[in-house]
Amino acid sequence: MIEESPPVRIAALIVAAGSGTRAGGDIPKQYATLGGLSILQRSIDAFVAYGSICEIRTVIQAEAQGLYTASLSGEPAVLGPPVTGGASRQASVRAGLEALASSSPDIVLIHDAARPFVSGGVIRRVVEALEAYPGVIPALPVADTLKRAHSDGTIGATVPREGLWRAQTPQGFRFSAILDAHRRAAEAGRDDFTDDAAIAEWAGLQVALVEGETQNVKITTAADIEEARNRLEAGMILEPRIGTGFDVHRFAEGSSVWLCGVQIPHTHRLEGHSDADVALHALTDALLGTIGDGDIGQHFPPTDPKWKGAASHLFLADAARRVRERGGRIGNVDVTILAEEPRIGPHRPAMQARMAEILAIPLDRVGVKATTMEGLGAIGRREGIVAMASALVLFPVHATEGT
Ligand code: MG
Repeated sequence: MIEESPPVRIAALIVAAGSGTRAGGDIPKQYATLGGLSILQRSIDAFVAYGSICEIRTVIQAEAQGLYTASLSGEPAVLGPPVTGGASRQASVRAGLEALASSSPDIVLIHDAARPFVSGGVIRRVVEALEAYPGVIPALPVADTLKRAHSDGTIGATVPREGLWRAQTPQGFRFSAILDAHRRAAEAGRDDFTDDAAIAEWAGLQVALVEGETQNVKITTAADIEEARNRLEAGMILEPRIGTGFDVHRFAEGSSVWLCGVQIPHTHRLEGHSDADVALHALTDALLGTIGDGDIGQHFPPTDPKWKGAASHLFLADAARRVRERGGRIGNVDVTILAEEPRIGPHRPAMQARMAEILAIPLDRVGVKATTMEGLGAIGRREGIVAMASALVLFPVHATEGT
């Protein structure tokens, strides 16, 4: 009998404890916004998008708790509470590693929050090389000729660039080995290491290089932020994805129906386990369709008493959260209601506003339409209401994804 080896458990430690003074501005650079998302959020999203990370922890300054909370627009399930950092980068990373010690992952990927453009390809190369080495970092060969200057600004020497590499993150390590190296460095009174590979080297661990990417820049200065903004707006490759949804609920005895998150007085109610908002159910399925993430019944089973009588805006908001966790930006949604009654027209503005509110998108990206069935079929016989929905979501494409 062949025994499968247990899956490798990978944790990511995102170091956001810097004060970022070089970038200027009022707040540390990792909390600055790029294209609607904070730099920190983008770094977290990159690891969520990679897909097989079991735990993500961030390290922040104690006084930055408010900034931290405000900078997160989506909190994925794998994201644990932030860890309070120390006086140096090294101390901050060590605090993060100690926080991960209780869950004891096999591998830890230590990443600078200020590198928000890390691709799935870079993360994958680091993870794969960790099968052969206890430490792996992505790096780029130095392309420019290097000069050592005198203090007066004149050249003292030309430094051979052969064999020189620029280190990037995430730097990946077997967890127990890097935790041990950090503890030993602290015991030895060393606090001058500028990256984790240097600590691993000091501790005698073999650290391998894999190919980094030029786009995996560290955002350090205000000019870096500006350049990143320009690049995001001008050069972002977005992949549009479409999802559709359909739902039907039958009428039962009652006095109002829920449609598009709005309660409408009526001669009947719609029958269902939740509030039976047929339109929000169809739209929830449409959003889930853009990420291939099952359907509403899978995430909120009607067999679960927890969802009895539930307000359906919870389902829709959850689908939007799932889409955003994968980096998706909702382009537009469109709902068509098939009903002989009640009349939809008078309620359309409220429905549109309510769905825009739940999805946190502008009004003109929300369509609400209705038609009767001209008396034909079950809907025409006033036995229930049907809703159809579609959603278009834009997802960023990383240049090296899948390579
Ligand atoms: Mg339903």
